[in-house]
Amino acid sequence: MRIVLASGNLGKVAEFQALFAKTPIEIMAQSVFQLDPVEETGATFLENALLKARYVHHHTKLPTIADDSGLDVDALDGAPGIYSARFAGVNATPAEHIKKLLNELREVPADKRTARFHCVLVYLQNDAEPIICKGVWEGKILFAPKGAGGFGYDPIFFVPTDNCSAAELSFERKIQLSHRGQAMRALLNQLK
Ligand code: IMP
Repeated sequence: MRIVLASGNLGKVAEFQALFAKTPIEIMAQSVFQLDPVEETGATFLENALLKARYVHHHTKLPTIADDSGLDVDALDGAPGIYSARFAGVNATPAEHIKKLLNELREVPADKRTARFHCVLVYLQNDAEPIICKGVWEGKILFAPKGAGGFGYDPIFFVPTDNCSAAELSFERKIQLSHRGQAMRALLNQLK
């Protein structure tokens, strides 16, 4: 079975392809269909994931997985949250998003830097009910970036279980722990 992943983020596509590699499911990147990205106008991760899934499913007529994810920082009342991908501006680089976040947290001490990644996955096939799966990954925001792996906010996301940043984890270990890995495994179980 072929499933389209409604995302242009190469880091996410790689994670999905790795997890589904041992299954008969082939994950196709949205870029194969040359669709413009849909505007994420929802007020929650779930609304945005549904929006993306419906848009791509409508245009490809194929089973579609959409993911919406982001980072909730307690000291910023949950920001950047659903705005994680555009925190420092729509065209900003990951380094610029990180710089802005660290700047907003400059006065916040270590014990108040708690944060978590959220992931909501929506699977749409034909007109059936969407399947919705979620994952949450708890951590803390570091004072400076560390590590070169992963993507997005990984270099400043401290992973207490492994005592390192998410960008210092191996690809496999990140999928074991992460919000997206949790949600992907839950979805995989439902698709079996
Ligand atoms: P989305 O593509 O609208 O879901 O945007 C999610 C944004 O949240 C990404 O662009 C990243 O900035 C951030 N994000 C989500 N998941 C991760 C992750 O696993 N590591 C680092 N940043 C992430």
